[in-house]
This record gives sequence, C-alpha cells and structure tokens, in this order.
Amino acid sequence: MIEDLVTVKRSKRAKRVALRLDPIERVINLVVPNRMSIKKAYSFAQQHEEWVIKTLDNLAPPMPFTDGAIIPVFGDSVMIKIEHNQALKRTTMKQYDDILIVKTYMDDPSNRITAHLKKLAHKGLADMASEKAEIIDKTISSLSVRDTKTRWGSCSTDGRLSFSWRLMFAPYDAIDYVVAHEVAHLVYMDHSKDFWALCRNLSSNFVEGKYWMQNHGNELMRYG
Ligand SMILES: [Zn+2]
Repeated sequence: MIEDLVTVKRSKRAKRVALRLDPIERVINLVVPNRMSIKKAYSFAQQHEEWVIKTLDNLAPPMPFTDGAIIPVFGDSVMIKIEHNQALKRTTMKQYDDILIVKTYMDDPSNRITAHLKKLAHKGLADMASEKAEIIDKTISSLSVRDTKTRWGSCSTDGRLSFSWRLMFAPYDAIDYVVAHEVAHLVYMDHSKDFWALCRNLSSNFVEGKYWMQNHGNELMRYG
C-alpha cells in the first residue's frame, strides 16, 4: 500500500504535489499543497510507486558509531574500537592510522565520537581549502563545519567558507570537488562558465567528484 510507504507533509508553500526523499529520517515525504485532497495526492504517489520502492531499497544502511564499525575518513577506512571501563572519569580518544580507540565509562559514547570526528573534519577541510586558495592567491577569512541537510558547502561574499562535516565520509575526489567548488567561489560568486573552468582546474578529479556528490551525496547522512 502506497499509504504505508510515504509520509504525508502538508505544505503551505508547495504549488504542486511531490515525492521527496528525506535522507536523515530515511523516509519519502509526500508533499501535498494545502488545497489538494489527500486522496488526489495518494493517487499521484501511487503512479510513482515503483520509484518509491526503488529509492527506499537503495538507501544505504545506517552506520552508527558503535564498536567495530568501519567508517571512511577522508578516503581511508577507520575502525572504531570502544573500550568500556566504569572506573574511568572521562572519555578519551586516540586515533591511529586506521583505528580510533575510544576509552569510556559511557554506555553510548557516540556523541563524543561525533564531536571528535567533527574536529577532524574541520581540520581536514581547512587544510584542503587553504591549499587550493593559495593556488589562486586568495585568503579564506574563516571556515566552519555544520550539519546541513542538503548543502554540502557554501561561500559568503566576504570569504567565509562553510562545509558539512559529513563530507569527511565521502571518497577523496568528491571531498576535493566540493572544496574546489567553494574555493572557486572566492573568485566568482556565480556559476558562470569561468567559475566552472576554475572549479575544474582546482579539482583533482572534477568529473568523478561531481558525479559522486550528485548521485551519492545523500549517503553521507547515514553515518552516526
Ligand atoms: Zn556553487
């Protein structure tokens, strides 16, 4: 039944009925304009049942930060090893090449692991961005990481860059492309031909990186 596969969202702003994947909640929303009947909206969804089923089936499984989980970190695989010890007073984290050792008294230290990874993401993205900015003789006034749903990066007119911390889980070429994209905005604030030429120049593998973000970017939401 299509009614069991989608979540109805009434919308004041929507002009047309639409099906939209929410990669965080891992549901497909049926966005219904206020004036449309639910019956009509469901019949629209019914016509796209095949797409709904396929999209839900293709959702990559969630990847919580639990003991033994292997997560990609800037293109390398890192295993999370959690060692519980009730006698500990605080949680510590030591990162070796391919292993992150978490010593903790907490039952679920996943929030602490997220905080640690966000710091790593900030450092890694800042390094990549400043390297690229140097090539074009530009300065980044500040760089922050956020937990955004749909925008992976942004650049303000005064040179402030912002990235989703989740980019760290993408393949290297994809991260590199997003960083190149935002750094190229330090020169061109639009998506003109000149912008894309610069973005391509600053990317190590523009085609693959862009393709990955467009087709798999949603998968970054499954971590944590
Ligand atoms: Zn852009």
